[in-house]
Amino acid sequence: MTAQILDGRKIASEIREDLAKKIDIIPGENMPVLAVVLVGENDASKVYVRNKKKAALEVGIGCEVIELNDTIGENALLEIIHELNDNPHVNGVIVQLPLPKHINPLKILSAINPEKDVDGFNPYNAGLLACKEPEAIVSATPKGILKLLQVANIDLVGKHAVIIGRSNIVGRPTAMLLLNNDCTVTIAHSKTTNLSELVKEADIVVAACGCAKLVKKDWIKKGAVVIDVGINRIDGKLCGDVDFDEVCEVASFVTPVPGGVGPMTVAMLLENTYEAACRQREHQHNHKCCCGHCKH
Ligand code: NDP
Repeated sequence: MTAQILDGRKIASEIREDLAKKIDIIPGENMPVLAVVLVGENDASKVYVRNKKKAALEVGIGCEVIELNDTIGENALLEIIHELNDNPHVNGVIVQLPLPKHINPLKILSAINPEKDVDGFNPYNAGLLACKEPEAIVSATPKGILKLLQVANIDLVGKHAVIIGRSNIVGRPTAMLLLNNDCTVTIAHSKTTNLSELVKEADIVVAACGCAKLVKKDWIKKGAVVIDVGINRIDGKLCGDVDFDEVCEVASFVTPVPGGVGPMTVAMLLENTYEAACRQREHQHNHKCCCGHCKH
């Protein structure tokens, strides 16, 4: 068997084109705006933020990057979040992680207005997702994973999904989203004792542990769907948490790294920002959104 490649780059580009068309008909003064808070000098974070800004501007979403020194205190950072919450021109607020060690990320993420929390990392939105409430803003990576599965017409009902990783930003929300879509979900982590046997039982595997090429061919049930979230480097070359070449021989669908989940994450952040802007406008004017496309 040779797996079909789930081409995240292509699907994300179609989503972005579609978004650009919807945003194009919104009057200029209502253009969605995303604020990105970047603290410190983390090189990877700088690249991620640059990519998000570029992608936002390309679809017509305004993007303001607030770059802060890593000596900033927690209270000063909270003050900036409150200002962004109060700014009527800003529709989405995200804080690039990781934050410096002296800042408690939960405290900062909890301060973002849930309506502007387009990363979906505020525990309020995570809670709504856990309660299967449709108004939850779902974080971008899990949402992108679900979209990849849906675009490929992969039936989720009753399927056993094994998620490797239990972080708040990937593993847990992905588990909740797949559960909400009727998968039977197992969450594995670094203390899981029988990982390869567990993964072998999965119809859908989501690898989100940050361990280069951890998931091998003999871990995968024939015909399983394998979603690789990991971003790792071996000798400077990007690779995922899945041994891609090997796993392609047994899986039915696989995401590549790069070009799989990564581009979907960015596209979903833009979609969340657009939808948040529409929802806020609707709340402000208490009438249906003017774009005619938005589902809110
Ligand atoms: P974290 O480091 O926060 O979490 C990793 C999780 O994997 C933890 O739950 C950890 O377990 C678990 N884990 C670590 N080693 C093993 C192991 N050997 N076996 C089983 N479980 C293990 O990472 P993130 O969730 O933030 O990210 C995961 C990966 O996804 C990273 O490579 C990251 O770069 C990438 N990423 C990619 C994105 C994209 O858009 N493509 C977006 C976000 C992240 P424990 O809880 O016990 O420590």
